[in-house]
Amino acid sequence: MIDQSEGSEDYRRVSFAKLEALLGLCETAGCRRVRLLDYFGEASTPCGNCDTCLEPPQTWDATEAARKAMSCIFRTGQRFGSRHLIDVLRGQNTDRVAQWGHHDLSVFGIGADIEEAAWRDVFRQLVTLGFVRPDHAAFGALRLTDSSRPVLKGEQRIDMRRMAPRKGKSATIRRKAPIQGVSDADATLLERLRAWRGEQAREQSVPAYVIFHDATLSAIASSRPRDMGELSTIHGIGAKKLERYGPSLMTLLHD
Ligand SMILES: [Zn+2]
Repeated sequence: MIDQSEGSEDYRRVSFAKLEALLGLCETAGCRRVRLLDYFGEASTPCGNCDTCLEPPQTWDATEAARKAMSCIFRTGQRFGSRHLIDVLRGQNTDRVAQWGHHDLSVFGIGADIEEAAWRDVFRQLVTLGFVRPDHAAFGALRLTDSSRPVLKGEQRIDMRRMAPRKGKSATIRRKAPIQGVSDADATLLERLRAWRGEQAREQSVPAYVIFHDATLSAIASSRPRDMGELSTIHGIGAKKLERYGPSLMTLLHD
């Protein structure tokens, strides 16, 4: 949308910077609050309360993979999307590789040790971290940005989030459906339940999901149990959790 806008070059530059800041916030492996306040020029310490503080994502040193990916973009002339670039890195003899003679490049097959799905994550994170930018005028060809230089020269290390194993499509749809279908009143209650869960998690210094999974909170919000008996019928609330959290939940639900 930014690429297609009628705005001036300056407008697009600023829009891209904002988009990158937003994507960076999404992808950060550190505290969201630190990142957010940093955007507005304020220093902060980790809040202990955001999702990355409560459940710190695993990271890995992706410097070498990033350098290979960026070299591949450069050697192939910055005119291909990630799909072809991954084929080159993994040494796949596709028609396209043959057509462009990319099997003769020094980067051909240098990333065969990394799986295709993992490479897709690397390329996506390179974009969100601002080292690479898709050129929509050139059908999504990936180009290097200025910030890629220190990495290519070996002067900068890149850590990336380790992605959770992908779930099947149906699992994603099942998980999203109840959230899209909630009424405003249920959504408000769900927010309060999440805040309550956050407090519990903080007090006990455990990740939020240890208290209750999202699905359980959604079920509580939509069914609004009237007493402990009804609460106990909700999936994810066993006897121990009922005893421990039931009274507090009842107060929250009916105050
Ligand atoms: Zn935080």
